This record gives sequence, structure tokens and C-alpha cells, in this order.
Amino acid sequence: MLKDTYRHKGLRRQLAMKLMEKGIVNSDVLAAIEKIPRHLFLDNAFIERAYEDIAFPIGSGQTISRPHTVAFQTELLQLKKGEKVLEIGTGSGYQTAVLLEMGAKVYTIERQKALFDKTKVFLPSIGYDAKFFYGDGYKGLPAFAPFDKIIITAGAPEIPKPLLEQLKIGGIMVIPVGDAVQTMTLLKKTASNKLEKVEFGEFKFVPLLEDKEWGG
Ligand code: SAH
Repeated sequence: MLKDTYRHKGLRRQLAMKLMEKGIVNSDVLAAIEKIPRHLFLDNAFIERAYEDIAFPIGSGQTISRPHTVAFQTELLQLKKGEKVLEIGTGSGYQTAVLLEMGAKVYTIERQKALFDKTKVFLPSIGYDAKFFYGDGYKGLPAFAPFDKIIITAGAPEIPKPLLEQLKIGGIMVIPVGDAVQTMTLLKKTASNKLEKVEFGEFKFVPLLEDKEWGG
């Protein structure tokens, strides 16, 4: 069942080339996309289309982001090997795998129990090990802070304050901000009370949910 073939590898190479044409330049990001078997992250019904640049449902009303979105966000993080990264919205674990391929130590939070349960077993089974947490990403992980980088993979109506507090000075947060449509936003913490903000294009994510009852 967990099969990766030359055909899949060929399709991934084409996907990486397509992402390059769409403006992704970081060669480590492109190498990760070329390496990670995205088809294994999808329900059987979508496997044939796994290497198209589109989002798919992953259960619990959530989606695996488009490869371009994953690559774009990862590139903005400016990751260095060994950095400690907090990811909000584990979902399928695909973005998590990209961060791990880049050499990051990843702490990832998911608030849908069914997705949390599934991904914390699946990812290690294909060789990707992160620290998995079930909880509300709005609150972050104060016990493990500070983080070099923070990535939010759901649309945030506003920037969660606890997450800014958990970012190292000099650290970067990449977060899609907005309601129906989000502006990809890069925040750099230049001092304990100072942020530099750069805005990029518009993206469409499932919403970051707050204070809802947890569960599958
Ligand atoms: N990176 C994932 C994207 C999944 S979509 C992937 O590529 O598969 C966004 C995810 O954020 C969903 O799984 C959703 O359940 C989760 N999410 C939404 N609000 C959250 C919150 N407050 N804390 C943690 N995870 C949250």
C-alpha cells in the first residue's frame, strides 16, 4: 500500500519544476518537494492527482494545502538546519515533512483529534518524526518556547499574541491573515516589543479555529 515508484518520482520532479516556474527559488524547498511522497498523504480517491498543484480534503473538514502554498510558506521561513520550529495545524503532516526534510526540529499542534491521531502514527511510519501535540494552536507551546520560526497553516483572523511571545528575538513567523481570504504575512521579531511586517499575495486556507470544543 505504501508504495513509491519511479512514476511517482517522475511526477514529483515535474511538480518541483512547475513550482520553480511559479517563482519558488529555494533549492532545499524544491528538493523536499521532489523527495516527499505526497500521494501517501492522500485518501485513495485522490492518489492519481497527488502531484497536481491543488489542495485536497483530508477528513474532519480540513485540507492538505497546495504544494505551491507549502513551498511559498516554507521559503519565507528562511530555515536553517537545526532550527526549532512551531507549526500550527498539523493536518495531513505534509508541511511537517517538508520542515523536517529542511533539517528543522518540529513541534506541531493539531486541534482535530482524528487528524492528530492519524498523523502522529502515519508520519513516523514513513520516516518523519516530529513532536506531535493535540491542542489549541492559538496558545502555542509555552513550555517549549522560544522558537526560531513559527508557521501557521490555517487562516488566522488575527495574529495570536501568545505565538508572538513564543518567537525568539530575530525569529520569523509566517501566517496567513484574514477571514475569507488571507494575506500571507511575514513577521520578524527584531526586539522583544518590535515587529517588522512584510505582506505577500492572497491565499485561501481553512480557518484557524479558536475556543471551540475539540474533537474529531
Ligand atoms: N499543513 C496542513 C494543513 C492542514 S489545514 C497540511 O498540509 O495537511 C489546517 C489545519 O489546521 C487543519 O488540520 C485544522 O484542523 C488545523 N487547525 C485549525 N485551527 C487550529 C488550532 N486552533 N490549533 C491547531 N490546529 C488548528
